[in-house]
Amino acid sequence: VHTRADRLEFAGAAAEKCFVFARDSRDGSLYYLANTPVSAEVRQITREHLRCPIPECPNPRVTVVDRGPGRRNGFSHLGGAGGHAGLSTEHVQAQLMLLDWLRRTRPECTATLEWRLEDGSRVADLMVQFPDGRQVAIEVQYSAQPVSKWRQRHKSYVDRDVRDVWLLGNRPPHLIDAGQQRVELTDMHRAVLQAGLPLLWVNPDRRIATATVTSSGFTLAPAAGAYDVVYRADPIEDCRFTTEGLITPTMELIAEQRTKWEVHQTAQLRSQEAAQAAAANTRQRRQASVEAAQGHRAVHEATWATSPLRAELLAKHGQLPAPITDSPRPDNGVFAAPQHWHAIICRDLLHDRVGGEFTVGDVYRALADQQIELHPHGRTRSATIAAYLDRLHQRGLIRIERDPADPTWIRHCIVRMDLDEYGRLLKAERERSRIALAEQRAMAKIEAGAEAGRRASEAAARSQWDYPLPEHDGNIGRVRHFVPDTDPVLRWHQIVISAIRDKDGQHTPAYPADVRRALTVQLRSVPEDDLRAFLAAYRTSVGLGRESPGG
Ligand SMILES: [Zn+2]
Repeated sequence: VHTRADRLEFAGAAAEKCFVFARDSRDGSLYYLANTPVSAEVRQITREHLRCPIPECPNPRVTVVDRGPGRRNGFSHLGGAGGHAGLSTEHVQAQLMLLDWLRRTRPECTATLEWRLEDGSRVADLMVQFPDGRQVAIEVQYSAQPVSKWRQRHKSYVDRDVRDVWLLGNRPPHLIDAGQQRVELTDMHRAVLQAGLPLLWVNPDRRIATATVTSSGFTLAPAAGAYDVVYRADPIEDCRFTTEGLITPTMELIAEQRTKWEVHQTAQLRSQEAAQAAAANTRQRRQASVEAAQGHRAVHEATWATSPLRAELLAKHGQLPAPITDSPRPDNGVFAAPQHWHAIICRDLLHDRVGGEFTVGDVYRALADQQIELHPHGRTRSATIAAYLDRLHQRGLIRIERDPADPTWIRHCIVRMDLDEYGRLLKAERERSRIALAEQRAMAKIEAGAEAGRRASEAAARSQWDYPLPEHDGNIGRVRHFVPDTDPVLRWHQIVISAIRDKDGQHTPAYPADVRRALTVQLRSVPEDDLRAFLAAYRTSVGLGRESPGG
Protein backbone atom coordinates (compact mmCIF):
# COMPACT_ATOMS: atom_id res chain seq x y z
CA VAL A 1 0.00 0.00 0.00
CA HIS A 2 1.44 3.29 -1.08
CA THR A 3 1.27 6.12 1.35
CA ARG A 4 1.75 9.75 0.54
CA ALA A 5 5.38 9.33 1.65
CA ASP A 6 6.16 6.82 -1.13
CA ARG A 7 5.80 9.49 -3.76
CA LEU A 8 7.90 12.07 -1.94
CA GLU A 9 11.31 13.02 -3.22
CA PHE A 10 14.25 11.42 -1.47
CA ALA A 11 16.54 14.37 -2.03
CA GLY A 12 16.77 17.72 -3.77
CA ALA A 13 14.69 20.85 -3.55
CA ALA A 14 11.40 18.94 -3.38
CA ALA A 15 12.45 16.91 -0.34
CA GLU A 16 10.91 18.23 2.84
CA LYS A 17 13.10 18.89 5.82
CA CYS A 18 11.95 16.06 8.02
CA PHE A 19 10.55 16.53 11.46
CA VAL A 20 8.47 13.38 11.67
CA PHE A 21 9.59 11.88 14.96
CA ALA A 22 8.50 13.25 18.29
CA ARG A 23 8.91 11.94 21.78
CA ASP A 24 5.84 10.85 23.70
CA SER A 25 6.19 12.53 27.08
CA ARG A 26 4.06 9.84 28.73
CA ASP A 27 6.55 6.98 28.31
CA GLY A 28 9.52 8.54 26.46
CA SER A 29 8.75 6.43 23.34
CA LEU A 30 9.13 7.70 19.79
CA TYR A 31 6.13 8.74 17.80
CA TYR A 32 6.30 8.55 14.00
CA LEU A 33 4.00 10.88 12.11
CA ALA A 34 2.54 9.11 9.09
CA ASN A 35 1.98 11.12 5.92
CA THR A 36 -1.76 10.76 6.00
CA PRO A 37 -4.33 13.51 6.50
CA VAL A 38 -3.96 14.68 10.07
CA SER A 39 -6.85 13.65 12.28
CA ALA A 40 -8.22 15.59 15.24
CA GLU A 41 -7.01 12.75 17.43
CA VAL A 42 -3.42 13.17 16.24
CA ARG A 43 -3.66 16.89 16.77
CA GLN A 44 -4.83 16.30 20.31
CA ILE A 45 -2.11 13.75 21.11
CA THR A 46 0.46 16.10 19.68
CA ARG A 47 -0.75 19.03 21.69
CA GLU A 48 -0.96 17.12 24.93
CA HIS A 49 1.86 14.57 24.84
CA LEU A 50 4.33 14.95 21.96
CA ARG A 51 7.50 16.96 22.43
CA CYS A 52 10.65 17.83 20.47
CA PRO A 53 12.94 14.77 20.76
CA ILE A 54 16.13 16.77 21.00
CA PRO A 55 17.41 16.69 24.60
CA GLU A 56 17.61 19.99 26.36
CA CYS A 57 15.38 21.61 23.71
CA PRO A 58 14.61 25.06 25.12
CA ASN A 59 11.15 25.06 23.55
CA PRO A 60 10.05 21.41 23.19
CA ARG A 61 6.30 21.92 22.53
CA VAL A 62 5.33 21.00 18.96
CA THR A 63 2.33 21.19 16.71
CA VAL A 64 1.49 19.11 13.62
CA VAL A 65 1.36 20.68 10.16
CA ASP A 66 -0.67 19.07 7.38
CA ARG A 67 0.90 20.33 4.12
CA GLY A 68 -1.57 18.50 1.92
CA PRO A 69 -1.05 15.91 -0.82
CA GLY A 70 2.40 15.83 -2.50
CA ARG A 71 4.09 17.32 0.53
CA ARG A 72 5.21 15.85 3.80
CA ASN A 73 3.28 16.42 7.01
CA GLY A 74 5.53 17.25 9.91
CA PHE A 75 5.90 18.62 13.38
CA SER A 76 6.88 22.16 14.05
CA HIS A 77 8.01 23.90 17.19
CA LEU A 78 5.31 26.02 18.67
CA GLY A 79 6.19 29.65 18.25
CA GLY A 80 8.90 29.15 15.59
CA ALA A 81 12.38 27.67 15.88
CA GLY A 82 13.25 25.39 18.73
CA GLY A 83 16.55 27.06 19.30
CA HIS A 84 18.47 24.45 17.37
CA ALA A 85 19.37 24.46 13.63
CA GLY A 86 17.37 22.57 11.01
CA LEU A 87 20.31 20.40 10.05
CA SER A 88 20.63 19.26 13.62
CA THR A 89 16.92 18.42 13.64
CA GLU A 90 17.35 16.20 10.58
CA HIS A 91 20.41 14.53 12.07
CA VAL A 92 18.50 13.71 15.22
CA GLN A 93 15.43 12.69 13.22
CA ALA A 94 17.57 10.22 11.28
CA GLN A 95 19.09 8.83 14.45
CA LEU A 96 15.65 8.40 16.00
CA MET A 97 14.29 6.78 12.87
CA LEU A 98 17.14 4.23 12.90
CA LEU A 99 16.79 3.61 16.61
CA ASP A 100 13.06 3.02 16.25
CA TRP A 101 13.67 0.65 13.33
CA LEU A 102 16.43 -1.29 15.10
CA ARG A 103 14.42 -1.72 18.25
CA ARG A 104 11.49 -3.08 16.27
CA THR A 105 13.43 -5.33 13.88
CA ARG A 106 16.42 -6.45 16.00
CA PRO A 107 15.03 -6.52 19.56
CA GLU A 108 17.84 -8.91 20.59
CA CYS A 109 20.41 -6.16 19.87
CA THR A 110 21.24 -3.29 22.12
CA ALA A 111 21.02 -0.02 20.20
CA THR A 112 22.36 2.98 22.01
CA LEU A 113 21.84 6.49 20.81
CA GLU A 114 24.80 8.67 21.71
CA TRP A 115 24.25 12.35 21.68
CA ARG A 116 27.16 14.30 20.42
CA LEU A 117 28.82 15.60 23.57
CA GLU A 118 30.04 19.11 23.83
CA ASP A 119 33.22 18.00 25.63
CA GLY A 120 34.46 16.67 22.27
CA SER A 121 34.75 13.00 23.12
CA ARG A 122 33.87 11.09 19.97
CA VAL A 123 31.15 8.51 20.17
CA ALA A 124 29.03 6.84 17.49
CA ASP A 125 25.66 8.31 16.63
CA LEU A 126 24.21 4.89 17.15
CA MET A 127 26.05 1.86 18.50
CA VAL A 128 24.46 -1.50 17.94
CA GLN A 129 25.67 -4.48 19.94
CA PHE A 130 24.73 -8.01 18.95
CA PRO A 131 24.15 -10.68 21.59
CA ASP A 132 27.53 -12.24 20.74
CA GLY A 133 29.24 -8.97 21.54
CA ARG A 134 29.95 -7.83 18.00
CA GLN A 135 29.36 -4.13 17.44
CA VAL A 136 28.21 -2.10 14.48
CA ALA A 137 28.43 1.68 14.57
CA ILE A 138 26.02 3.79 12.57
CA GLU A 139 27.12 7.28 11.69
CA VAL A 140 24.72 9.83 10.27
CA GLN A 141 26.51 12.66 8.53
CA TYR A 142 24.56 15.75 7.60
CA SER A 143 27.18 18.40 8.25
CA ALA A 144 30.18 19.04 6.03
CA GLN A 145 33.30 17.26 7.11
CA PRO A 146 36.84 17.19 5.67
CA VAL A 147 37.63 13.91 3.95
CA SER A 148 40.75 13.54 6.07
CA LYS A 149 38.61 13.61 9.19
CA TRP A 150 36.26 10.99 7.75
CA ARG A 151 39.25 8.73 6.97
CA GLN A 152 40.50 9.15 10.49
CA ARG A 153 37.12 8.21 11.96
CA HIS A 154 36.74 5.23 9.65
CA LYS A 155 40.25 4.04 10.56
CA SER A 156 39.49 4.28 14.27
CA TYR A 157 36.53 1.90 13.76
CA VAL A 158 38.63 -0.48 11.66
CA ASP A 159 41.33 -0.42 14.32
CA ARG A 160 38.78 -1.26 17.02
CA ASP A 161 37.34 -4.02 14.80
CA VAL A 162 33.96 -2.30 14.75
CA ARG A 163 32.04 -2.28 11.51
CA ASP A 164 30.94 1.25 10.62
CA VAL A 165 27.87 2.15 8.59
CA TRP A 166 27.87 5.62 7.09
CA LEU A 167 24.58 7.23 6.25
CA LEU A 168 25.08 10.54 4.51
CA GLY A 169 22.44 13.25 4.74
CA ASN A 170 19.92 13.49 1.92
CA ARG A 171 20.83 17.08 1.05
CA PRO A 172 23.91 19.15 0.17
CA PRO A 173 26.77 18.84 0.71
CA HIS A 174 26.31 15.05 0.82
CA LEU A 175 23.65 14.59 -1.80
CA ILE A 176 23.36 16.93 -4.74
CA ASP A 177 20.69 15.53 -7.00
CA ALA A 178 21.60 16.39 -10.62
CA GLY A 179 18.11 15.28 -11.68
CA GLN A 180 16.86 11.79 -12.51
CA GLN A 181 18.45 10.64 -9.22
CA ARG A 182 21.90 11.24 -10.67
CA VAL A 183 24.66 12.04 -8.22
CA GLU A 184 27.94 13.75 -8.78
CA LEU A 185 30.51 12.00 -6.67
CA THR A 186 32.29 14.18 -4.10
CA ASP A 187 35.68 13.48 -2.52
CA MET A 188 33.79 12.17 0.49
CA HIS A 189 31.83 9.70 -1.68
CA ARG A 190 35.03 8.51 -3.32
CA ALA A 191 36.69 8.03 0.06
CA VAL A 192 33.75 5.87 1.22
CA LEU A 193 33.85 3.79 -1.99
CA GLN A 194 37.64 3.45 -1.82
CA ALA A 195 37.28 2.09 1.71
CA GLY A 196 35.06 -0.64 0.25
CA LEU A 197 31.92 0.59 1.99
CA PRO A 198 28.54 0.99 0.33
CA LEU A 199 27.65 4.58 -0.48
CA LEU A 200 24.38 5.21 1.38
CA TRP A 201 22.16 8.18 2.15
CA VAL A 202 19.45 8.55 4.74
CA ASN A 203 16.14 10.33 4.61
CA PRO A 204 14.66 10.49 8.13
CA ASP A 205 11.31 9.74 6.60
CA ARG A 206 12.21 6.02 6.85
CA ARG A 207 14.19 5.72 3.63
CA ILE A 208 17.76 4.70 2.75
CA ALA A 209 19.30 5.28 -0.70
CA THR A 210 22.14 3.28 -2.30
CA ALA A 211 24.52 4.48 -5.00
CA THR A 212 24.56 2.35 -8.17
CA VAL A 213 25.86 2.33 -11.70
CA THR A 214 24.65 0.36 -14.69
CA SER A 215 27.17 -1.67 -16.71
CA SER A 216 26.16 -3.88 -19.67
CA GLY A 217 22.62 -3.78 -18.27
CA PHE A 218 23.70 -4.89 -14.78
CA THR A 219 23.16 -2.83 -11.63
CA LEU A 220 26.48 -2.58 -9.81
CA ALA A 221 28.16 -0.65 -7.03
CA PRO A 222 30.07 2.32 -8.44
CA ALA A 223 33.85 2.41 -8.48
CA ALA A 224 35.50 5.43 -6.85
CA GLY A 225 36.11 6.98 -10.28
CA ALA A 226 32.64 6.25 -11.63
CA TYR A 227 30.34 8.75 -13.24
CA ASP A 228 26.71 8.29 -14.23
CA VAL A 229 26.07 7.28 -10.63
CA VAL A 230 22.42 7.15 -9.56
CA TYR A 231 20.84 6.44 -6.21
CA ARG A 232 17.97 4.11 -5.53
CA ALA A 233 15.85 4.76 -2.44
CA ASP A 234 14.46 1.85 -0.44
CA PRO A 235 12.07 1.98 2.54
CA ILE A 236 13.95 1.26 5.76
CA GLU A 237 11.32 -1.39 6.42
CA ASP A 238 12.72 -3.41 3.48
CA CYS A 239 16.30 -3.16 4.77
CA ARG A 240 18.06 -5.67 7.04
CA PHE A 241 20.52 -5.10 9.80
CA THR A 242 23.24 -7.70 10.33
CA THR A 243 26.71 -7.90 11.82
CA GLU A 244 27.82 -6.83 8.36
CA GLY A 245 25.91 -3.62 8.77
CA LEU A 246 22.85 -2.17 7.11
CA ILE A 247 21.82 -4.08 4.00
CA THR A 248 19.42 -2.35 1.59
CA PRO A 249 17.43 -4.27 -1.06
CA THR A 250 19.51 -2.39 -3.64
CA MET A 251 22.71 -3.73 -2.06
CA GLU A 252 21.26 -7.23 -2.30
CA LEU A 253 20.38 -6.60 -5.92
CA ILE A 254 23.94 -5.36 -6.54
CA ALA A 255 25.41 -8.48 -4.93
CA GLU A 256 23.23 -10.71 -7.09
CA GLN A 257 23.89 -8.70 -10.27
CA ARG A 258 27.59 -8.60 -9.55
CA THR A 259 27.74 -12.39 -9.75
CA LYS A 260 25.83 -12.40 -13.01
CA TRP A 261 27.96 -9.55 -14.33
CA GLU A 262 31.13 -11.49 -13.50
CA VAL A 263 29.79 -14.53 -15.33
CA HIS A 264 28.90 -12.28 -18.26
CA GLN A 265 32.31 -10.59 -18.21
CA THR A 266 34.10 -13.93 -17.98
CA ALA A 267 32.10 -15.26 -20.92
CA GLN A 268 32.86 -12.12 -22.91
CA LEU A 269 36.52 -12.33 -22.03
CA ARG A 270 36.60 -16.00 -22.95
CA SER A 271 34.97 -15.41 -26.33
CA GLN A 272 37.33 -12.49 -26.92
CA GLU A 273 40.30 -14.66 -26.00
CA ALA A 274 38.99 -17.45 -28.19
CA ALA A 275 38.64 -15.04 -31.12
CA GLN A 276 42.15 -13.72 -30.54
CA ALA A 277 43.54 -17.22 -30.23
CA ALA A 278 41.80 -18.23 -33.44
CA ALA A 279 43.18 -15.16 -35.22
CA ALA A 280 46.66 -15.85 -33.89
CA ASN A 281 46.36 -19.46 -34.90
CA THR A 282 45.30 -18.48 -38.42
CA ARG A 283 48.18 -16.02 -38.65
CA GLN A 284 50.59 -18.63 -37.39
CA ARG A 285 49.33 -21.25 -39.81
CA ARG A 286 49.56 -18.80 -42.71
CA GLN A 287 53.07 -17.81 -41.70
CA ALA A 288 54.02 -21.45 -41.30
CA SER A 289 52.65 -22.29 -44.72
CA VAL A 290 54.53 -19.37 -46.28
CA GLU A 291 57.74 -20.52 -44.61
CA ALA A 292 57.05 -24.10 -45.56
CA ALA A 293 56.38 -23.03 -49.15
CA GLN A 294 59.66 -21.12 -49.25
CA GLY A 295 61.49 -24.01 -47.65
CA HIS A 296 59.87 -26.50 -49.97
CA ARG A 297 60.51 -24.50 -53.12
CA ALA A 298 64.21 -25.40 -53.10
CA VAL A 299 63.32 -29.05 -52.47
CA HIS A 300 60.76 -28.94 -55.30
CA GLU A 301 63.23 -27.44 -57.74
CA ALA A 302 65.87 -30.02 -56.79
CA THR A 303 63.34 -32.83 -57.23
CA TRP A 304 62.48 -31.51 -60.68
CA ALA A 305 66.10 -30.96 -61.68
CA THR A 306 66.88 -34.62 -61.09
CA SER A 307 63.57 -35.94 -62.36
CA PRO A 308 63.69 -38.66 -65.06
CA LEU A 309 60.71 -36.96 -66.67
CA ARG A 310 62.75 -33.82 -67.21
CA ALA A 311 65.64 -35.81 -68.68
CA GLU A 312 63.20 -37.61 -70.97
CA LEU A 313 61.68 -34.35 -72.20
CA LEU A 314 65.10 -32.83 -72.83
CA ALA A 315 66.18 -35.92 -74.75
CA LYS A 316 63.06 -35.84 -76.90
CA HIS A 317 62.66 -32.11 -77.53
CA GLY A 318 66.19 -30.77 -77.11
CA GLN A 319 64.81 -28.22 -74.70
CA LEU A 320 61.79 -28.01 -72.46
CA PRO A 321 58.79 -27.14 -74.65
CA ALA A 322 57.01 -23.87 -73.97
CA PRO A 323 53.84 -25.58 -72.60
CA ILE A 324 56.08 -26.91 -69.79
CA THR A 325 58.04 -23.74 -69.07
CA ASP A 326 55.00 -21.48 -69.10
CA SER A 327 54.39 -20.03 -65.63
CA PRO A 328 50.88 -18.65 -65.38
CA ARG A 329 49.66 -17.32 -62.02
CA PRO A 330 48.53 -18.28 -59.48
CA ASP A 331 50.84 -21.24 -58.99
CA ASN A 332 50.64 -21.73 -55.21
CA GLY A 333 47.98 -24.43 -55.33
CA VAL A 334 50.36 -27.26 -56.19
CA PHE A 335 53.28 -28.12 -53.96
CA ALA A 336 55.84 -28.90 -56.65
CA ALA A 337 58.07 -27.08 -59.13
CA PRO A 338 55.66 -25.67 -61.76
CA GLN A 339 57.56 -27.27 -64.65
CA HIS A 340 57.38 -30.58 -62.84
CA TRP A 341 53.61 -30.75 -62.51
CA HIS A 342 53.08 -29.14 -65.92
CA ALA A 343 55.17 -31.98 -67.37
CA ILE A 344 53.11 -34.57 -65.47
CA ILE A 345 49.87 -33.17 -66.89
CA CYS A 346 51.29 -33.14 -70.40
CA ARG A 347 52.61 -36.69 -70.09
CA ASP A 348 49.73 -38.35 -68.22
CA LEU A 349 46.71 -36.55 -69.62
CA LEU A 350 47.74 -35.30 -73.08
CA HIS A 351 50.31 -37.70 -74.43
CA ASP A 352 48.86 -40.08 -77.06
CA ARG A 353 45.37 -39.06 -76.05
CA VAL A 354 44.37 -36.65 -78.82
CA GLY A 355 40.58 -36.50 -79.01
CA GLY A 356 40.24 -37.76 -75.43
CA GLU A 357 38.86 -35.87 -72.48
CA PHE A 358 39.89 -35.20 -68.92
CA THR A 359 38.52 -33.24 -65.97
CA VAL A 360 40.10 -31.09 -63.26
CA GLY A 361 39.55 -34.08 -60.97
CA ASP A 362 41.69 -36.16 -63.33
CA VAL A 363 44.42 -33.54 -63.00
CA TYR A 364 44.26 -33.85 -59.19
CA ARG A 365 44.48 -37.62 -59.46
CA ALA A 366 47.36 -37.51 -61.95
CA LEU A 367 49.34 -35.26 -59.60
CA ALA A 368 48.43 -37.33 -56.55
CA ASP A 369 49.61 -40.45 -58.39
CA GLN A 370 53.01 -38.79 -58.65
CA GLN A 371 53.04 -37.98 -54.90
CA ILE A 372 52.54 -34.29 -55.60
CA GLU A 373 50.65 -32.57 -52.84
CA LEU A 374 47.94 -30.03 -53.45
CA HIS A 375 46.99 -27.00 -51.40
CA PRO A 376 44.44 -27.93 -48.71
CA HIS A 377 42.10 -25.13 -49.84
CA GLY A 378 40.02 -26.25 -52.80
CA ARG A 379 39.78 -22.76 -54.20
CA THR A 380 43.54 -22.21 -54.15
CA ARG A 381 44.39 -25.48 -55.89
CA SER A 382 41.62 -25.18 -58.48
CA ALA A 383 42.71 -21.60 -59.34
CA THR A 384 46.25 -22.83 -59.97
CA ILE A 385 45.12 -25.75 -62.14
CA ALA A 386 42.61 -23.59 -64.05
CA ALA A 387 45.29 -20.98 -64.83
CA TYR A 388 47.52 -23.66 -66.36
CA LEU A 389 44.68 -25.29 -68.29
CA ASP A 390 43.84 -21.85 -69.70
CA ARG A 391 47.39 -21.58 -70.94
CA LEU A 392 47.25 -25.01 -72.59
CA HIS A 393 43.98 -23.92 -74.20
CA GLN A 394 45.61 -20.73 -75.55
CA ARG A 395 48.47 -22.77 -76.97
CA GLY A 396 45.98 -25.04 -78.68
CA LEU A 397 46.92 -28.24 -76.83
CA ILE A 398 43.48 -28.62 -75.28
CA ARG A 399 40.03 -27.14 -75.67
CA ILE A 400 38.32 -26.24 -72.38
CA GLU A 401 34.60 -26.99 -72.32
CA ARG A 402 32.92 -24.84 -69.74
CA ASP A 403 29.53 -25.14 -68.11
CA PRO A 404 27.26 -22.67 -70.00
CA ALA A 405 25.40 -21.95 -66.76
CA ASP A 406 28.63 -21.22 -64.87
CA PRO A 407 31.57 -20.28 -67.12
CA THR A 408 34.01 -20.57 -64.21
CA TRP A 409 33.21 -24.27 -64.02
CA ILE A 410 35.40 -26.41 -66.28
CA ARG A 411 33.32 -29.41 -67.33
CA HIS A 412 36.19 -31.12 -69.10
CA CYS A 413 39.09 -30.54 -71.46
CA ILE A 414 39.39 -32.11 -74.89
CA VAL A 415 42.93 -33.01 -75.95
CA ARG A 416 43.78 -31.49 -79.34
CA MET A 417 47.48 -32.35 -79.48
CA ASP A 418 50.22 -33.67 -77.29
CA LEU A 419 53.71 -32.32 -76.84
CA ASP A 420 55.05 -34.41 -79.73
CA GLU A 421 52.51 -33.00 -82.11
CA TYR A 422 53.02 -29.56 -80.69
CA GLY A 423 56.73 -30.01 -81.40
CA ARG A 424 56.08 -31.24 -84.95
CA LEU A 425 53.72 -28.38 -85.60
CA LEU A 426 56.19 -25.93 -84.24
CA LYS A 427 58.91 -27.42 -86.40
CA ALA A 428 56.70 -27.32 -89.49
CA GLU A 429 55.73 -23.80 -88.67
CA ARG A 430 59.35 -22.85 -88.31
CA GLU A 431 60.15 -24.59 -91.61
CA ARG A 432 57.28 -22.78 -93.24
CA SER A 433 58.42 -19.47 -91.99
CA ARG A 434 62.01 -20.30 -93.00
CA ILE A 435 60.80 -21.05 -96.51
CA ALA A 436 58.56 -18.05 -96.51
CA LEU A 437 61.47 -15.96 -95.47
CA ALA A 438 63.69 -17.36 -98.20
CA GLU A 439 60.92 -16.80 -100.72
CA GLN A 440 60.45 -13.37 -99.46
CA ARG A 441 64.14 -12.67 -99.88
CA ALA A 442 64.17 -14.15 -103.40
CA MET A 443 61.12 -12.16 -104.32
CA ALA A 444 62.70 -9.06 -102.98
CA LYS A 445 65.75 -9.73 -105.13
CA ILE A 446 63.62 -10.39 -108.23
CA GLU A 447 61.52 -7.38 -107.54
CA ALA A 448 64.55 -5.23 -107.04
CA GLY A 449 65.84 -6.43 -110.46
CA ALA A 450 62.48 -5.89 -112.06
CA GLU A 451 62.27 -2.50 -110.51
CA ALA A 452 65.64 -1.58 -111.92
CA GLY A 453 64.56 -2.90 -115.33
CA ARG A 454 61.32 -1.01 -115.07
CA ARG A 455 63.12 2.17 -114.19
CA ALA A 456 65.41 1.72 -117.20
CA SER A 457 62.42 0.98 -119.44
CA GLU A 458 60.60 3.96 -118.12
CA ALA A 459 63.55 6.15 -118.73
CA ALA A 460 63.76 4.77 -122.26
CA ALA A 461 60.02 5.19 -122.72
CA ARG A 462 60.21 8.69 -121.46
CA SER A 463 63.04 9.52 -123.82
CA GLN A 464 60.98 7.93 -126.60
CA TRP A 465 58.04 9.91 -125.55
CA ASP A 466 59.91 13.06 -124.87
CA TYR A 467 59.49 14.54 -128.23
CA PRO A 468 57.14 17.51 -128.34
CA LEU A 469 53.63 16.85 -129.35
CA PRO A 470 52.90 19.10 -132.30
CA GLU A 471 50.47 21.54 -130.80
CA HIS A 472 49.13 22.48 -134.25
CA ASP A 473 48.03 18.91 -134.76
CA GLY A 474 44.57 19.01 -133.32
CA ASN A 475 44.19 15.27 -133.55
CA ILE A 476 47.35 14.61 -131.61
CA GLY A 477 46.36 17.22 -129.13
CA ARG A 478 43.15 15.32 -128.45
CA VAL A 479 45.22 12.24 -127.76
CA ARG A 480 46.75 13.85 -124.71
CA HIS A 481 43.83 13.01 -122.54
CA PHE A 482 44.59 9.33 -123.17
CA VAL A 483 48.07 9.63 -121.86
CA PRO A 484 48.26 11.36 -118.49
CA ASP A 485 51.91 10.70 -117.88
CA THR A 486 51.50 10.33 -114.10
CA ASP A 487 49.05 7.43 -114.26
CA PRO A 488 50.97 4.15 -114.19
CA VAL A 489 47.93 2.21 -115.34
CA LEU A 490 47.95 4.15 -118.59
CA ARG A 491 51.68 4.06 -119.12
CA TRP A 492 51.31 1.27 -121.63
CA HIS A 493 49.05 3.54 -123.63
CA GLN A 494 51.97 5.90 -124.03
CA ILE A 495 54.16 3.03 -125.09
CA VAL A 496 51.62 1.97 -127.66
CA ILE A 497 51.25 5.47 -129.00
CA SER A 498 54.98 5.97 -129.26
CA ALA A 499 55.18 2.63 -131.06
CA ILE A 500 52.74 3.63 -133.76
CA ARG A 501 54.08 7.05 -134.47
CA ASP A 502 57.31 8.21 -135.90
CA LYS A 503 59.53 10.94 -134.59
CA ASP A 504 57.60 13.56 -136.43
CA GLY A 505 54.43 12.47 -134.76
CA GLN A 506 53.17 10.84 -137.92
CA HIS A 507 51.39 7.56 -137.57
CA THR A 508 53.35 4.66 -138.92
CA PRO A 509 51.84 1.45 -140.13
CA ALA A 510 52.66 -0.43 -136.91
CA TYR A 511 51.74 -4.05 -136.65
CA PRO A 512 50.16 -5.57 -133.60
CA ALA A 513 53.23 -7.73 -133.15
CA ASP A 514 55.42 -4.65 -133.07
CA VAL A 515 53.16 -2.96 -130.60
CA ARG A 516 53.15 -6.06 -128.40
CA ARG A 517 56.89 -6.32 -128.63
CA ALA A 518 57.22 -2.71 -127.57
CA LEU A 519 55.03 -3.41 -124.62
CA THR A 520 56.82 -6.61 -123.64
CA VAL A 521 60.14 -4.92 -123.71
CA GLN A 522 59.08 -2.10 -121.53
CA LEU A 523 56.24 -3.52 -119.46
CA ARG A 524 54.70 -6.78 -118.47
CA SER A 525 52.14 -8.13 -120.80
CA VAL A 526 48.93 -6.26 -121.50
CA PRO A 527 45.73 -8.25 -122.04
CA GLU A 528 44.99 -8.58 -125.74
CA ASP A 529 41.43 -7.30 -125.41
CA ASP A 530 42.62 -4.22 -123.58
CA LEU A 531 45.19 -3.56 -126.25
CA ARG A 532 42.70 -3.93 -129.10
CA ALA A 533 40.13 -1.76 -127.35
CA PHE A 534 42.69 0.90 -126.73
CA LEU A 535 44.00 0.91 -130.27
CA ALA A 536 40.46 1.17 -131.66
CA ALA A 537 39.69 4.07 -129.42
CA TYR A 538 42.96 5.72 -130.29
CA ARG A 539 42.49 5.32 -134.02
CA THR A 540 39.01 6.78 -133.81
CA SER A 541 40.22 9.71 -131.77
CA VAL A 542 42.99 10.56 -134.23
CA GLY A 543 40.76 9.90 -137.29
CA LEU A 544 42.56 6.80 -138.54
CA GLY A 545 39.49 4.69 -139.00
CA ARG A 546 38.64 1.40 -137.35
CA GLU A 547 41.20 -0.95 -138.98
CA SER A 548 44.02 -1.76 -136.81
CA PRO A 549 47.43 -1.00 -138.24
CA GLY A 550 48.64 -3.82 -140.24
CA GLY A 551 45.31 -5.59 -140.00
ZN1 LIG B 1 13.43 21.22 19.72
